[in-house]
Amino acid sequence: MSNVKLEDIVSLCKRRGFIYPGSDVYGGLSGTWDYGPLGVALKRNIMQLWWKMFVDDREDMFGVDAAILMNQKVWQASGHVDTFTDPLVECSNCKSRFRADKIDLSRCPNCGQKDTFGEARAFNMMFKTNVGPVDDESSISYLRPETAQGIFTNFKNVVDSFYPDLPFGLAQQGKAFRNEISPRDFIFRSREFEQMEIEYFVHPDNWQPEFEKWVTLVHEWCDALGLPAESIHELEVPDDDRAHYSKRTIDFEFDFPIGREELLGLAYRTDFDLGNIQRESKKSMEYRPKDGSAPFVPHVIEPSFGLERALMAVLSAAYTTDEVNSEARSYLKLPSHLAPVKVAVSPLLKNKPELVEKAREVYRMLKKEFGAVMWDDNGNIGKRYRRQDEIGTPYCVVIDFETLEGDTKDTVTIRNRDTTEQTRVAIADLTNPGVLSF
Ligand code: ATP
Repeated sequence: MSNVKLEDIVSLCKRRGFIYPGSDVYGGLSGTWDYGPLGVALKRNIMQLWWKMFVDDREDMFGVDAAILMNQKVWQASGHVDTFTDPLVECSNCKSRFRADKIDLSRCPNCGQKDTFGEARAFNMMFKTNVGPVDDESSISYLRPETAQGIFTNFKNVVDSFYPDLPFGLAQQGKAFRNEISPRDFIFRSREFEQMEIEYFVHPDNWQPEFEKWVTLVHEWCDALGLPAESIHELEVPDDDRAHYSKRTIDFEFDFPIGREELLGLAYRTDFDLGNIQRESKKSMEYRPKDGSAPFVPHVIEPSFGLERALMAVLSAAYTTDEVNSEARSYLKLPSHLAPVKVAVSPLLKNKPELVEKAREVYRMLKKEFGAVMWDDNGNIGKRYRRQDEIGTPYCVVIDFETLEGDTKDTVTIRNRDTTEQTRVAIADLTNPGVLSF
């Protein structure tokens, strides 16, 4: 169980420009969140790390980016129109609605009245819309509730263009939408969120060893996010709880501040999806092995990563409190490759033009080299350090009077976020490997 309080993370995220409630000026829109400058940087760093690890660094992976709106036949064939539902109950006293499997049904969590819930009804979580100017059955579409189907529908296209060896995978990152009955716990359960999914196509006889390899890769991913191994738990989902298409599922859970909850899922989906597409589209989804053996419909292993849950886990793991010079400090001990700002550059005093000028020079040099570099001359130096600590900036570079003259001319201090130690380094060495390392 995490010792961090969710309120502390939510408040830091809002105060420092990571994450704001969606449509905040108009009173919000439940289940939606907007990312500010630091939030979007952190989110992109996670997405890029994922893409590097699972696509660019491998030889068996291909990226796709499918449209969010898809032909309604996709969602009929996949079973989402009929079965993508959560059980909904309504309190007969206060009319509040809840997901029946998430509450104690003997008493309404909102008004406290006893025995006010009737039978649960199946509530479909897809957002329905119409595509084009005619509002009839034929124009119905849905905002995709998962990115996976956009991968399956492109399986044949990619095989025709690239004819990859099996096993191979298709990877996609993008928005997904679910009309969750009760969005809650900050970004953990939202109505609009992002997924990073892989469909890994294998020979049906070979799914077990390939599944095991993905278990290991998921742990490597969690490690790259800086999540402590002891806060990751594998939950082997029992037969009765698994989605109907899955023959094996492991939910990877994380000790969030809200308790142990699903971070991501790994499922063996058999040939359920390609089989459905083949049946409904009447187009062959078979793969022809290069050795001339009999064609077959590949089976699929699906690691499904939720970006917001990864981000919330990263923030929870990084949130740290300690004492510096007998004062309490809270800071984000982010892995430096994920930090939204890599270096902050400051003149010791902002009313000394000679310091500011030199600091600007250093700032421009580092910005050119590293990109995510922030100019910070607000408040006194102690306040700047605290603010940069709070957003997880690994290094603060300060230009002081010693930079301008004497033996220390053209040197600056580098202050380390985690140790708060300062070292003096020549400006010319700042971009050398290992000096500021991310
Ligand atoms: P849950 O049981 O928590 O509702 P799920 O099992 O329905 O999740 P999947 O359909 O397996 O979730 O989706 C894959 C991943 O997408 C989840 O592991 C999670 O990281 C993310 N995800 C799903 N629903 C949401 C949501 N409403 N908000 C944020 N992330 C989500």
